[in-house]
Amino acid sequence: MSSSVKSRLRAGRKQRGNGARKSLSASTRTLPGVGTRREDLLRELGVSTVGDLLVYPPRRYIDRTSFSRIADLRDGAVQTVSGTVTGIETRPAGHKRLFIAHIRDDSGQMRCVWFNQAYLRNVFRPGDTFVFSGKSKVDKYGRSMVHPEYEKMEGDLLHTGRVVPVYRTRPGLGQKQLRNLTRHALDGHLGDVEDCMPDSTRLRLGLAPLSEALEHLHFPPDLKRAEQARRRLAFDEMLVFQTLFALSRRDRKQGDRARAPRPGDEIKRLTAHLPYALTGSQAAALETLIGDIRSPYPMRRLLQGDVGCGKTVVACLVAALVCEEGGQVALMCPTELLAEQHYSTLSRFMTGFGFRVGLLTGSVEPEEGRQLKGDLKSGALPIVVGTHALITESTAFGNLSLAIVDEEQRFGVLQRARFLEKAPSANALVISATPIPRTLALTAYGDLDVTVIDEMPPGRGGHVTRCVGEEAREALLCDIGRRVVSGAQGFYICPAVDKSEAGLMDVTTASRLAQRYLGVDRRAEILTGRTPPEERFHIIEDFRRGSIGLIVATTVIEVGMDIPAATILVVDQADRFGLSQLHQMRGRVARCGAESFSFLIVSETASARARKRVEVLQSTFDGFEIAERDLAFRGPGDVIGTRQHGMPDLRFACLPEDTDLMLTARDEAFDRVLGGDDSEEWLGWVGAVRSLTAGRITVV
Ligand code: ADP
Ligand code: MG
Repeated sequence: MSSSVKSRLRAGRKQRGNGARKSLSASTRTLPGVGTRREDLLRELGVSTVGDLLVYPPRRYIDRTSFSRIADLRDGAVQTVSGTVTGIETRPAGHKRLFIAHIRDDSGQMRCVWFNQAYLRNVFRPGDTFVFSGKSKVDKYGRSMVHPEYEKMEGDLLHTGRVVPVYRTRPGLGQKQLRNLTRHALDGHLGDVEDCMPDSTRLRLGLAPLSEALEHLHFPPDLKRAEQARRRLAFDEMLVFQTLFALSRRDRKQGDRARAPRPGDEIKRLTAHLPYALTGSQAAALETLIGDIRSPYPMRRLLQGDVGCGKTVVACLVAALVCEEGGQVALMCPTELLAEQHYSTLSRFMTGFGFRVGLLTGSVEPEEGRQLKGDLKSGALPIVVGTHALITESTAFGNLSLAIVDEEQRFGVLQRARFLEKAPSANALVISATPIPRTLALTAYGDLDVTVIDEMPPGRGGHVTRCVGEEAREALLCDIGRRVVSGAQGFYICPAVDKSEAGLMDVTTASRLAQRYLGVDRRAEILTGRTPPEERFHIIEDFRRGSIGLIVATTVIEVGMDIPAATILVVDQADRFGLSQLHQMRGRVARCGAESFSFLIVSETASARARKRVEVLQSTFDGFEIAERDLAFRGPGDVIGTRQHGMPDLRFACLPEDTDLMLTARDEAFDRVLGGDDSEEWLGWVGAVRSLTAGRITVV
């Protein structure tokens, strides 16, 4: 997508006839001073044409607008002066040669010094006036500036005495050369740029015209104007995306749906079987989801909320509604364990509604699997819960109306897309406990509306998190043993399954250690991704019934597991895990009225920084805050997996800073597209977006 604005220029030109188009798509070779070598260097920067150069954004700006007098220069500060050359000299200095220009203004004099640049002799002619920018200091010869930026004082200044752009570049292509080329491109071609953005949009939002924005992107009169230029181009960029999303939404329109009962009544009816009342936030989310189901456009929604806030319950209620109306529902989970758990919750829940639920995972017997797939294909089975098995080629749906992806943070973007492709016009609900900023959801996740549940069910006990060192492991397990023996239940999470991994605590060692403190009265059981399904099922059931005290596990319990009676979590070598991941694990034990505890054992070998990171969890239980802190520690790629999610490469927009702009662009695009705006200016914009993005961006 890096080429969106670039291509917009190209698209816009089409209507202007050949001359203009040729002009912007002309090779950079047509610019003065560009031969094959510079052409190659520019191409390495992604700049092949004159138009590319126009939208090649500066990395930053240097403000050289204010001039100082030589007498007022301060040591070490970057300052700009203008002065007349009074003389030049070259002299040896060790292995190098110095070139010195003597400069004066009406306040005093200074020397400008360069190493090994003898050609400057031809640049600085005594009597000429130049502008110099750089750091200066006083030495035994008086004040001098070493390697300042300079520019002859004639006509408009480009490199000094103004706000100056600084570009990302390559060795062999200097800032000055890039600036000169950009100036030429602007002078020769700005008139060929056509602004496709509807005027009415632009004026209403107070955005600069495109040609002005391009001029000010490179050579702004001041920094404020530079920012205005960037915003205009960023808006363009986001409007392109949002227009595509809106068009894809429109293309999936399902015809008008029948009028439905009021959501309030429906919520009452659906929740009649629940043993508790929904929180306000859950009810609001459910109402939104019902609205989506009723809308003529298929739902594309991300349901977010911290672990334990009750997202899954809300999803089940919508599922019931969809089944009631004759639709088929598929719920995809990242692990078999979670799929099995949802299967049993849903089965219990759906008996109230009279619907049969199926379970499709890799561990289902082949015969049973074949039967199930048959029923899915014929539409005879209304609800299926499963893992990746749901996206294999042999799985087809007769009547899929709602596709739910639970704990989506564990899926890759492709898996999610493959699932949704099974029924492109079905409703899609994506559930995530990893807080994703709204703006990212709207870009990285393609076209997803976002609903956040930000309230916890009442009556949750407090939660205490404590970090300890490895030396305290035995004492800790002794204490936990006592609690478990007197009836408490918990999870003990280790980073390794096998002993082989040097220095890592493995589940076998850990369970032997723990069992010592549980005595003969209480059992510790091991649960990993390798535990056979049958055994896994019994362990979970026994744990639920209370006959197992401690489950010693790998991160298989991280996602979704819902066993309200468990109140103790131990994570061994917690520094091996991400903060959000640890928080997810905590969510497993903070689900009932009793007070719950997490003990995080930090490795002996952990750095001070790693220990600090884990200690963040002692002070907060807010998943959003934790994600932010994690971000600060690890950088964005790790936490939200932007790369994996195919985050578009935005050139001008910065997220999340440009959230407001993004939402404005979204409103604009959706209102116009779904509102059926057929004004010429808007259709012109849509045409431009379609032609430039054809085949390049897919919206799922
Ligand atoms: P999430 O999927 O957001 O992690 P769940 O839907 O699994 O959360 O719910 C967590 C636990 O809280 C479950 O045991 C569920 O039965 C319970 N729960 C959900 N909503 C409520 C509510 N409104 N009041 C009381 N308990 C609730
Ligand atoms: Mg859940």
